[in-house]
Amino acid sequence: MSECTHDCSSCSQSCSSRTAPQDMHIETNELSNVKKVIGVVSGKGGVGKTLVTSLLAVEARRRDFKTAILDADITGPSIPKEFGLKQRATGDEQFIYPVVTKTGIEVMSVNLLLEDEKQPVVWRGPVIAGVVKQFWNEVVWNDVDYMFVDMPPGTGDVPLTVYQSIRLDGIVIVTSPQELVSMIVAKAANMAKMMNIPILGIIENMSYVKCPKCGEEIKIFGEGHTEETAKEFGTTLLAKIPFDSELSKLSDNGCIELFEGSWLTEAADKLLK
Ligand code: ADP
Repeated sequence: MSECTHDCSSCSQSCSSRTAPQDMHIETNELSNVKKVIGVVSGKGGVGKTLVTSLLAVEARRRDFKTAILDADITGPSIPKEFGLKQRATGDEQFIYPVVTKTGIEVMSVNLLLEDEKQPVVWRGPVIAGVVKQFWNEVVWNDVDYMFVDMPPGTGDVPLTVYQSIRLDGIVIVTSPQELVSMIVAKAANMAKMMNIPILGIIENMSYVKCPKCGEEIKIFGEGHTEETAKEFGTTLLAKIPFDSELSKLSDNGCIELFEGSWLTEAADKLLK
């Protein structure tokens, strides 16, 4: 048998270069320094993943951490809308520069690059995945303590690329009570487990509505079982966020940095150590 040359194209040996799982993580550029990266995922769209990403970033910034958001939801980019960002991101031959929100959160999103933000992104999976990688290694992320990644929904090609290329320290799963009963959340959680990424916790969104007259918490989707489900996934329930019309107003008007609820205080205590 021939000796292993470590050149897999000309060698037939099954040495560890061929059989060991490849580390496909890519590094940021030399001008960037990102300390912790937290992915925010959901099984499907519309459960409040973008809203929760924004709220976590606002909490982190309020605690004086240097904070950034990488909007990896390329086909449904809504982060700029939450923060009322209208300007375009700039760049030079080598790098792209993020847009900074009113309170100082660095943001990169495909909507900050498009001429017309209402135009759909009609790109195939590999192109979208390439853009996410560029957001990671071609954007200048200035000395970031916490980066939140608004992950693409589902368990397809693009989330897979994000998991493989960006060195995530953990993920937070956002779910609504009715989504939890479907198998979609379990799929998202299992994908993270398969990629060896710690699940930092679950945030239940649209858990209840507070009666404006008596303050009673009305569970419109019935009693959630998030705590039990979190245990099944080997993690914890970090927070329950109500359906709140003030919250949706702030989010629709680009003023999410003004939110006043304390629903995420404990979650932030646990996540931002
Ligand atoms: P996703 O990122 O999962 O697709 P979004 O965060 O964009 O979902 O939320 C979908 C819509 O629901 C947005 O208009 C958002 O403002 C609204 N929304 C999400 N969570 C809440 C909430 N707790 N209270 C009120 N509106 C919410």
